[in-house]
Amino acid sequence: MQLIFEKSRPGRGSGILPESDIPQALDLNEFGKTSSAFGEIPVELRRKTKLNLPEVAETDLLRHYTQLAKRTYGINDGFYPLGSCTMKYNPRIDEEIAGLSGFSKIHPLQPKHTVEGCLEVLSLAEKYLCEITGMDHMTFQPSAGAHGEFTGLLLIKAYHQKRKDDKRRKIIIPDSAHGTNPASAAMAGFEVVNLSSTKEGLVDIEKLKEIAGEDTAGLMLTNPNTLGLFDRNIAQITKIVHDAGGLTYYDGANLNAIMGIIRPGDMGFDVVHLNLHKTFSTPHGGGGPGSGPVGCKDFLAGFLPEAPEGIGKVKAFYGNFLVVVRALAYILTLGREGIPEAAQSAVLSANYLKKKLSDMYEATSAEPAMHEFVLSLADLKKQCGVSALDMAKAILDNGFYPPTMYFPMIIPEALMIEPTETESRETLDHVADVFKTLYHQALENPESLRHSPAKTPVGRLDEVGAARNPKLIYRPQSDGENRPGIEEEAVTSR
Ligand SMILES: *Cc1c(COP(=O)(O)O)cnc(C)c1O
Repeated sequence: MQLIFEKSRPGRGSGILPESDIPQALDLNEFGKTSSAFGEIPVELRRKTKLNLPEVAETDLLRHYTQLAKRTYGINDGFYPLGSCTMKYNPRIDEEIAGLSGFSKIHPLQPKHTVEGCLEVLSLAEKYLCEITGMDHMTFQPSAGAHGEFTGLLLIKAYHQKRKDDKRRKIIIPDSAHGTNPASAAMAGFEVVNLSSTKEGLVDIEKLKEIAGEDTAGLMLTNPNTLGLFDRNIAQITKIVHDAGGLTYYDGANLNAIMGIIRPGDMGFDVVHLNLHKTFSTPHGGGGPGSGPVGCKDFLAGFLPEAPEGIGKVKAFYGNFLVVVRALAYILTLGREGIPEAAQSAVLSANYLKKKLSDMYEATSAEPAMHEFVLSLADLKKQCGVSALDMAKAILDNGFYPPTMYFPMIIPEALMIEPTETESRETLDHVADVFKTLYHQALENPESLRHSPAKTPVGRLDEVGAARNPKLIYRPQSDGENRPGIEEEAVTSR
């Protein structure tokens, strides 16, 4: 498929946008020449060359993007069991409500009395999400899960600083944690202490007792963890850290399994972040704005970004407001009965599928799963050479999206499956059949899986090459016109 730049022909265009009614900062006919229309823009900031934008007619524009849309795969196309990402159906009513002009056409600098309804949305969402998490206060500024982690860790840092407890520089993180946890802790200026898991994939209590001490700033934990297991010792874990003088951080990105059933606050956590763009009705993975609100207990409220003596802003204004509108619509439409029912269905789906697959594939734990489970293909690979990657690519040829691969990293040849609560039994049965067929195919004709996918718009990609030598920029061919784009100027030799 051609790039839109390759479809460009000088002079073509469409009438979608009105003529600009403000002065242009560059007279396209006279590069580099000053003119009164430049107004206040300093000379060194003015564009020296013409911006390389594609010029295409309206029909071609529409066809281009329709063609692109047909080559993608999303939750509206089919099953999407991407573990840890909660790719579930998001009710259309929530989208509809977020689209109401009273929400979508406001400006953050509008006087307060003109946006009182929106402020009420924020305060109601805070109230309900605090109820669901067992927290006392919440900020909506963080715009993603990792951003929430960073914010929450700054609260913990500010708490110790205020008490002049300067030794506390270490954050304990289990080896089963999501990769963003250690990264956020390092970003917030902490030293990361790795906590190994037991054979069962749970926190090693004895190890934790050894590690926790007067240099411990806190513990970061996901429960259920990335193996999809609920740590039964959770109350003991948070107590050990508190007794050592540290605080406890709950990574609530995957609240799907527990919402309305058990609360991080009751498990002994002081700070939590949520991913509204996973659990609470904003599509995840669309590249659009997310929201990673951070909740905390009363004693930390004075450090929140909004507090006069707090850690300061982590994002402008109120964060990504429309994601909060969707979350509130979701909570209000599901209600006190619907929220735990969604969690129960998520857990039921995961266990149903796990049971169906585990007579062939090796499940990494015999414990009941929460919202997701992990298979290890290490044995299968030993038997016939087919890896988790081969299997994932073969799944693409069978009409649905593959699970998360090679994560968590403590499991060899891992496939992490999160079916979510919004899939029907028929879908889960079909998926189980596909997995079984592929299992037999792997044993009987392993070579056939190594060349998949064959039915997708592009075949198997050179993933190492793509990571080592990424080509992210279109360089226009020298067509005699020679008008290099700004992108090209930005490229320096590697
Ligand atoms: C998705 C996820 C995150 C990160 O969230 P982003 O919005 O992608 O930054 C953190 N922790 C866990 C457990 C997650 O599943």
